[in-house]
Amino acid sequence: MVYMDYNATTPCDERVFKEMLPYFSKEFGNPSSIYGLARNSRKALETARERVAKLLDCKPEEIFFTSGGTEADNWAITGTAFGMRDKGKHIITSSIEHHAVLNTCKFLEKMGYEVTYLPVDRYGIVDIEALKKSIRKDTILVTIMAANNEIGTVQPIKEIAEIVKGKGVLFHTDAVQVAGKVHLSVKEMGVDMLSLSGHKFYGPKGVGALYVRKGVRLIPFLYGGGQEKGKRAGTENVAGIVGLGKAAEIAMAEMAEEAERIGKMRDDLEKGIKEKIPEIIINGHPEKRLYNTLNVCIKYIEGESILLHLDFEGICASSGSACTSGSLEPSHVLLAIGIPPEIAHSSVRFSLGKHNKREDVAKVLDVLPGIVEKLRKMSPFWKQ
Ligand code: PLP
Repeated sequence: MVYMDYNATTPCDERVFKEMLPYFSKEFGNPSSIYGLARNSRKALETARERVAKLLDCKPEEIFFTSGGTEADNWAITGTAFGMRDKGKHIITSSIEHHAVLNTCKFLEKMGYEVTYLPVDRYGIVDIEALKKSIRKDTILVTIMAANNEIGTVQPIKEIAEIVKGKGVLFHTDAVQVAGKVHLSVKEMGVDMLSLSGHKFYGPKGVGALYVRKGVRLIPFLYGGGQEKGKRAGTENVAGIVGLGKAAEIAMAEMAEEAERIGKMRDDLEKGIKEKIPEIIINGHPEKRLYNTLNVCIKYIEGESILLHLDFEGICASSGSACTSGSLEPSHVLLAIGIPPEIAHSSVRFSLGKHNKREDVAKVLDVLPGIVEKLRKMSPFWKQ
């Protein structure tokens, strides 16, 4: 099998899995209890918190564990919205966010909040002038993703943070596709809140974290016991959190080397596709793009058909984001960068990762042109 869908999810690293195992059995103590067994679990949680804090260059007490990226996004947005409703009810985001952000904003609109969806340019970079113009007296939050999951475009987060901070507004970034892939420092970025997710960087599924800068007063997300300083109640997912911590530690040590290796393979794949297949569009920014992501529109055919044929060949890729594949709607991200709907339907995303080898790239380049030729022959729109 050739797996090239690492932006959808990644396999759990063996070292992560090994570190988690005792916390399903022998080390089962509830971190809130007071005896030795429980203290082991508490210690494991705090070690994980320190590791995640190192990954983001922040203090451990600024890390709150969640059930993943979706929860972290929901919490940052609704927590700010409900907590600051006396100051204002206006939120700014971009039109290419993940649905974890977009649908939270849609919910808030139904609750009487106002949301501005910033346009992006043809590469997916947020319109900075539009951002400046949309900040108002009643704006409470700007939430803009660090990098896009579909096309990989990386936003100028530092520049955005400076603009937002100058106006006294809170700034959250969904860094789910960036955390664990590239060096991150919340201090350098200047963000107030940041979301990440374990399963995107070789950790387990169902666990993530929200960084909340000290001094930001975010209201609780879940009510109950006093876990996570009373802000996210419920007995902690100890094994998952331990896994997240280990994944963060491994990422810190290995990401630079991996980035270079994976980046080269992605570039080779892109070059090969451009050489072998006519009438394609490479989506996303040419340089300011995640090094592992290649999103391509192969005109006149359906992305879904290409994916099925690739699957027959044992190649896993995706069209649009995992959450929207299976839907008939063209990707909102591709529409936002100006791709017409009929062409947006022809998109395929290859996202590479740790276990890819050069042979995988060769295999895709070997089978994809034939698949495209076959499908185009059946397409009424293909005139050649
Ligand atoms: N945000 C982005 C940019 C993502 O790519 C994803 C997952 O696809 C999420 C949020 C949701 O994360 P999770 O799957 O951990 O809920």
